[in-house]
Amino acid sequence: MSRTLVLNATYQPMNFVSVKRALLLVLRDRAEIVEQHVSARLHSVDQEFPYPIVIRLVTYVRIPRRMRSVITNKILFARDDHTCQYCGRPEHGLKKSERLTREHVIPMSRGGLTRWDNVTTACSSCNLKKADRLLSEVGIRILSRPFEPKYIALVLLQQCSEEVQRKYIHAYSPSR
Ligand SMILES: [Zn+2]
Repeated sequence: MSRTLVLNATYQPMNFVSVKRALLLVLRDRAEIVEQHVSARLHSVDQEFPYPIVIRLVTYVRIPRRMRSVITNKILFARDDHTCQYCGRPEHGLKKSERLTREHVIPMSRGGLTRWDNVTTACSSCNLKKADRLLSEVGIRILSRPFEPKYIALVLLQQCSEEVQRKYIHAYSPSR
């Protein structure tokens, strides 16, 4: 069962709710539908309703301040769209013998820290190739500069069930 992404009035992604709850918010004029299923519909006894994928609240709701988040591979890979930031191949494009890894842009052996702005997603092949060297020494370019993501955006990305929802969450990822 997929869930509906709720955006604040400012289009900032907030949370996921059940599709039924989302529809109720819409029917009560608390929210409007931003994206809906092309074919699927919701049904009551005698009525048909659109199937909301993304809704937007009509009134702005204050959300909690940004929280510091620990680095886990799950969140790191989500931040980098499950794509190797060196060769650009997505996880599903890797060979069977390869996998995504956490990679220190400035290697730890060279004083690099395990911080959001120094870790990136790399496939095992690129990670092996780069080893304990700096990007300039290997001649590799990094596709996106590492950044500390907004906690809320990361949590939401992990719960994403529809591709179209990612678009709205990514739009709010900072410093891209
Ligand atoms: Zn790679």
